[in-house]
Amino acid sequence: MCVLLAFIFLFPIFIHAKESNSPKEMTVVIDPGHGGKDPGAVGRISKEKDIVLEIAILLRDFINNAYNDVNVILTREDDSFVELFKRAEIANKNNADLFISLHINGSSNRRANGTETFVMGLHTSKENLEVAKKENAVILKEEDYEDRYGGFDPNDPESHIIFSLFQDAHLNQSLFMSQLVQENFANKLPLTNRGVKQAGFLVLWQTTMPSVLVEAGFISNAEEEKLLNTSETQEKIAYSIFNAFSKYRKYYQDDDIDIAEKDFSEILADEASASKTTQTSIEKENISVTEPKSESSIIFKVQIATSSRKIETIPQNFKSHKNVEVYLLDNIYRYTIGTETNYDKILQLRSDLSKDFPDCFVVAFKNGERISIQEAKKELNIK
Ligand SMILES: [Zn+2]
Repeated sequence: MCVLLAFIFLFPIFIHAKESNSPKEMTVVIDPGHGGKDPGAVGRISKEKDIVLEIAILLRDFINNAYNDVNVILTREDDSFVELFKRAEIANKNNADLFISLHINGSSNRRANGTETFVMGLHTSKENLEVAKKENAVILKEEDYEDRYGGFDPNDPESHIIFSLFQDAHLNQSLFMSQLVQENFANKLPLTNRGVKQAGFLVLWQTTMPSVLVEAGFISNAEEEKLLNTSETQEKIAYSIFNAFSKYRKYYQDDDIDIAEKDFSEILADEASASKTTQTSIEKENISVTEPKSESSIIFKVQIATSSRKIETIPQNFKSHKNVEVYLLDNIYRYTIGTETNYDKILQLRSDLSKDFPDCFVVAFKNGERISIQEAKKELNIK
């Protein structure tokens, strides 16, 4: 009876809350890495799990104090062990608009120093792979990790390469947020700016919204560890991320500016130096960008993944899906399935594919050039 009553009374409240949700409201999930039996990187005087929790709480308070319309959720609020998949689940279930995972780096090279922010993707250097391997290794402390993560082996580089493909459908937004974080770090912290990078982090792989992973300095560096343990530096780190968030929020709320349509790929630190040499080789390389069929000048495809390096379009790289095609736009390889002139048919295909690629979305081409969906619909007189 009690349950029934609760249901009757609660249900209309839920509906009401949903209705009053203006599209401008945001939910941010802040994820202090590690916790409980998993200390993360360990320094001489401190542990990663404790520092990131302090920073996460500060960041939450900064956001809560500044904005009434932002809902902030922490994946842990104390020293408890939370599995990686649960962290992503918290963000997904709450329909978060942004996911920020907080970490402190550790390296066997005691001189390594500085801050870096990662987005999901294929690593471009061994160093970046090492960071991802280290952060992903926490699943070894989880029970049933083999089943939970589809046979993913944190110690196997191949494992990292394969799952790095199924990255961020929100790569641009993630890159944008990462860039803002690093800009603010560079302005406010006495730490080296190592830039924005890409690597395969399990926790970013499983979230379905723009997601970044911040490595705010090295605990293995004695000087930095000292700094990281001062409330002044912790506040500066939290405030930098808060500032980055504020700017991200502004763009997010401005309907005229579509972050998704912009390209932030040039900010990737590893690519920055490499891109000057690879850019020309990318242009020279003959990429089989699919030509549209000629009956209609507008075709639709379902985009399932992106990568900064070209991936072979073989089924084993794409959850056994055949007929994967690739096109290159703004130096990012974008992988698609299907070719339809009928919008309803492509929507159906997208819904079928979303089982394997939850973030897949429809893209439109006119005479082989990518155009916005709005533009395509307008030309085809679709509402
Ligand atoms: Zn960590």
